[in-house]
Amino acid sequence: MKKIKVSVIIPIYNEENNVDLLTEKLVQILSNYFSYEIIFIDDGSNDNTLENVKKINKINKNVHYISFTRNFGHQNALKAGLDRATGECVISMDGDLQHPPELIPDMIEKWQEGFEIIYTIRKDNKSASFYKYKTASLFYKFINMISDVRILQGSADFRLLDRSVVEEIKNMDEHSPFYRGLIPWTGFRQFGIKYSPNHRHTGESKYSMKRMFLFAMGGITSFSVIPLRLATFLGFGMAFFGFVIGLKAVIEYLFTERTVPGWTSTIMAIVLVGGVQLIILGIIGEYLGRMFIESKKRPHYIIRENSLHKQSDSE
Ligand code: UDP
Ligand code: MG
Repeated sequence: MKKIKVSVIIPIYNEENNVDLLTEKLVQILSNYFSYEIIFIDDGSNDNTLENVKKINKINKNVHYISFTRNFGHQNALKAGLDRATGECVISMDGDLQHPPELIPDMIEKWQEGFEIIYTIRKDNKSASFYKYKTASLFYKFINMISDVRILQGSADFRLLDRSVVEEIKNMDEHSPFYRGLIPWTGFRQFGIKYSPNHRHTGESKYSMKRMFLFAMGGITSFSVIPLRLATFLGFGMAFFGFVIGLKAVIEYLFTERTVPGWTSTIMAIVLVGGVQLIILGIIGEYLGRMFIESKKRPHYIIRENSLHKQSDSE
């Protein structure tokens, strides 16, 4: 076996009852390799998650923590992990045991065969609600339709990245990075492994309807400008429609007596045009908002404490 170091990065947000079992399972698997590190990124938990990880850190020096000052979001937590992981390959996974650690040896095997990105595809089973599964599948269909990268259905943030990929990703400075799109976008050699997700061990999902919607919007606007173009097309369509209606109004005014009736069509036109304009403004605003946030160059996250000892604490 090659003398390799494997890093595992795990964003955790209020997972106090999951970290022990997850670490236990991971250590069992990872101790077969030359060297490993497990980095928990505590994304502003307000329960005992951090205390529990600290306890593990005292016993096992391969287990580390990075703790944010507040909740900066799952993707930023992933970024913090990627920024600090030191292994030749870096595996990211969820902290609720939905991603089976038993898959890791297969991932490492494929990596040693020469693949640089080993992603995982969720097999459909009953671990997520029907509703969540449906909305996710609709989202992936839509985003693939309107953007250049292919994001696979059922892909999650459970994957192995070669060091070369990690270095590229680290250099990307965009805000609210959408890793499910960014990673395939890099173009490195990829291999997909299917797995059946488990049920969440304890606690509940942190992705509410609202967060899922925002996440999806972020994914779409960071990977495609087609919604903007759509706005233009719609605008043209409506302008043409308006022109026809206008023409009709003028002709009626000039050649007929009935100029007063027509209240319905007037209201229709106002409502329709008004609605479309608002949609278009919304789309433009969405992109503008992203540019606004990007232009401020705020750090992605701020670290209060960590067990890794590195110079800068906000990136
Ligand atoms: N998570 C996080 N920050 C957040 C939300 C979630 O670090 O703001 C973590 C969470 O602790 C878990 C992973 O991201 O380890 C996936 O979240 P969750 O299981 O709630 O999502 P779901 O599996 O329901 O999509
Ligand atoms: Mg989960």
